[in-house]
Amino acid sequence: MTKRKTAVVTGSSSGIGLGIAQALAAKGMNVVLNGIEPEVQIEPIRAGLATEFGVDVIYDRANLMDPAGVVALMTGAEARFGPVDVLVNNAGIQHVAPIEDFPDEKWQAILNLNLSAAFFATKAAVPGMKTRGWGRIINIASAHGLVASPYKSAYVAAKHGLLGLTKTVALEVAENGITVNAICPGYVWTPLVEKQIPETAKARGMTEEEVKRDVLLAAQPTKKFATVGQIGALAAFLATDDAASITGAALPVDGGWTAQ
Ligand code: NAD
Repeated sequence: MTKRKTAVVTGSSSGIGLGIAQALAAKGMNVVLNGIEPEVQIEPIRAGLATEFGVDVIYDRANLMDPAGVVALMTGAEARFGPVDVLVNNAGIQHVAPIEDFPDEKWQAILNLNLSAAFFATKAAVPGMKTRGWGRIINIASAHGLVASPYKSAYVAAKHGLLGLTKTVALEVAENGITVNAICPGYVWTPLVEKQIPETAKARGMTEEEVKRDVLLAAQPTKKFATVGQIGALAAFLATDDAASITGAALPVDGGWTAQ
């Protein structure tokens, strides 16, 4: 039997990351879950994935706000499962405010988690992937990596930066059997989206229902939130050999948002 592949999915205790972790476990990969929630809260999820798909799953609470946390996550994954074959840089946070009121510490936190953590994790993963001549790096960017919306200066800057990192590393490792791609979701119904509705309502002087209809889904021609299952399915495909020629790509899953 060939050795199971190992996947690290950052920010996978919830939302899109969890959907991706589930899709990779369903492909028979061992998975390292990561997030900031307490172990006791995530244990049923961890155990459920392991049982359902017959793979090994661990949960690592490494805080990816600083480089040491990212290195600890990657080192811990290798110690438990051996080399990391698939790295999904998904952890991200959002803050919504006009530029003149945007808190400095929110700017820094969003840059740290949504962009720098992907840099440090990629830097840690690439040498082993090069040695083995195979690897998959999948960065969860956003439609906001391709276009902007007001009041999201840090998020839009970080996601545009993540696409730059994706393309650069894709070129650097193109001959090493490693692909590096970005998935650019539109609005996906997750806790991250749910949490920003009251902030957006305040910033724009709207009700929460108006925000959903006139701000969020106004941008999405399908008028539907994308699902975590749809993002997971694409990530799982990018992790296959059939996806070997897809690299350096920014792949929208946005119901047509960025076609406009
Ligand atoms: P979410 O809030 O549901 O989950 C965020 C995850 O990140 C959680 O697992 C949380 O524990 C983890 N996390 C938060 N701070 C962390 C830290 N300091 N260290 C380690 N982990 C940390 O979010 P989501 O909506 O699933 O978003 C996941 C990614 O997808 C983000 O990068 C987000 O920007 C991107 N995205 C989301 C949407 C959407 O509509 N939900 C759209 C486009 C892009």
